Amino acid sequence: MKTTMMDQALSINHFLDRAGTLFKHNEIVSRLPDKTLVRHSYGQWHRRTLSLASALQRAGLQKGDRVATLCWNHHMHLEAYFGIPAAGGVMHTLNLRLSAEELGWIAADAKDRILIVDDVLLPLYLQMAALHAFERVIVFPFSGAPVPPEFTSYEAFIAEGDADGFTPVPHGEDEAIAICYTSGTTGRPKGVAYSHRSTVLHTLVGCLGDHWGLRGIDVVMPVTPMFHANSWGMPYGAVMVGAKLVFPGPHLHADDLLDLMQLEPPTLSLGVPTIWMSLIQTYERSLTEHPGRWKLPAGMRSLVGGAAVPESLIRAFDAHGIWIMQGWGMTETSPIATISYARAELKDASAEERYRRAAMAGVIAPLVELRLKTEEGLIAPWDGQTMGEVQVRGPFITGSYHEVPVTEDKFTADGWLRTGDVATLDDLGFLRITDRTKDLIKSGGEWISSVDVENALMAHPAVAEAAVIAIPDEKWSERPLACVVFKPGQNAPAEALNAHLISHGFAKWQCPERYEVIAAVPRTSTGKFWKLKLREMFPR
Ligand code: ADP
Repeated sequence: MKTTMMDQALSINHFLDRAGTLFKHNEIVSRLPDKTLVRHSYGQWHRRTLSLASALQRAGLQKGDRVATLCWNHHMHLEAYFGIPAAGGVMHTLNLRLSAEELGWIAADAKDRILIVDDVLLPLYLQMAALHAFERVIVFPFSGAPVPPEFTSYEAFIAEGDADGFTPVPHGEDEAIAICYTSGTTGRPKGVAYSHRSTVLHTLVGCLGDHWGLRGIDVVMPVTPMFHANSWGMPYGAVMVGAKLVFPGPHLHADDLLDLMQLEPPTLSLGVPTIWMSLIQTYERSLTEHPGRWKLPAGMRSLVGGAAVPESLIRAFDAHGIWIMQGWGMTETSPIATISYARAELKDASAEERYRRAAMAGVIAPLVELRLKTEEGLIAPWDGQTMGEVQVRGPFITGSYHEVPVTEDKFTADGWLRTGDVATLDDLGFLRITDRTKDLIKSGGEWISSVDVENALMAHPAVAEAAVIAIPDEKWSERPLACVVFKPGQNAPAEALNAHLISHGFAKWQCPERYEVIAAVPRTSTGKFWKLKLREMFPR
């Protein structure tokens, strides 16, 4: 029996075409470094995107070649999201919070050929340039200053493209369109590649009414950096439905976001808990210190994830008419795997119960299968009590890492991704994250590898042993605490240890918040650092 047109591949190029024809009058607003706003219509954006794709092809881009971006959130980054795949390339979003050493290594590992960089980030590029030689560096004149003559200006580059004569490169659904690196528990970060198919399916799932409920009349403010797991899928969703986009550019401080919200009130936003925590505190202070300075956009829905969302944050926003939807996922899961929403069974639930549920990671998204594996290797029942490692599979869950052999510590023999998160599931299918087995600390939405910090600390002449754990932090979600054993008769103050880390390529925010001197690091029966014991010793 013949079925529907199987030769019609799922493709984000379709979203691009659609936006350029159907939504050409809708707006994309970006905040520039000088805080002024620049406006483009989707029609203009569409032409610029096709010009970029055409120019990339003329510059010799071959199918599957990687083009890196080192950019803030703005219209040009959205051009790259669609223009690079339309040219047949793979967009590699570089995380501007990483050190130059890490960025250089990642760019080399991904074999990035071309880089598109914001002019305001050129100093970071110049530091990493020695570690990876891009064939071409295209500089976006984001600040409006002239582009230094040794680089190609983005505007001059796309002016060489032929938007009218360009046809997007034919492709298979499973061909990569983007790659994003995730922090390694030990050693190096690993690349996760997304395909046209995975991106389209993830976008459709994200847009469901129970999730973002994204509509064409929405005004979307993506605060989550576009270098994080393709900004949780929202840029693709906004283009698919033609929703107005408001990009904050480099201005992510609470005052700046509140100012932007007055100018362009969003109906939907997304970001990590740290951002919203500081935003609500600043706003509440302003009510007495500067009454009337800001108004929160009541009715806005906000997707918050990347770290546990405290119930207090959900309550604080709800008091101002803003509902926070918590999501859980990973770069490896595209990233949405669960979202907390009010299920039919909860329609008559008390406010207390609704808050309690909203503070959980949420309900398993369609097309995602999720199970909890207990330490005994059993599948945990959905009793809200039994803990197990979260394992997932599905069409937008990665099946491997870029050029890394598939190993059993990351993927089970029967084909599930091991997330390194520990959780319970209750009878309504709500996931509650309780612990993490991967040795990583998440501070303000960015990873710190405890193992890397430990190794660097143990290279200090006074340190015999060092074990680093996460402690809860109201502002940053988590911060690193280092437990240090000094060599006999030796000592070093925290400032000296942090200076040592910085000289070894760590950023300031990656350095431990606190040091505790201990006599010996507790060890498990197999001789590994017993972090559980340390977490008990230093709960906060
Ligand atoms: P992203 O770029 O989306 O933040 P990462 O791959 O960097 O994705 O981080 C994924 C990890 O972040 C998860 O495995 C988990 O440890 C943590 N995380 C994400 N969302 C939540 C959440 N809602 N609650 C608790 N932890 C979370």
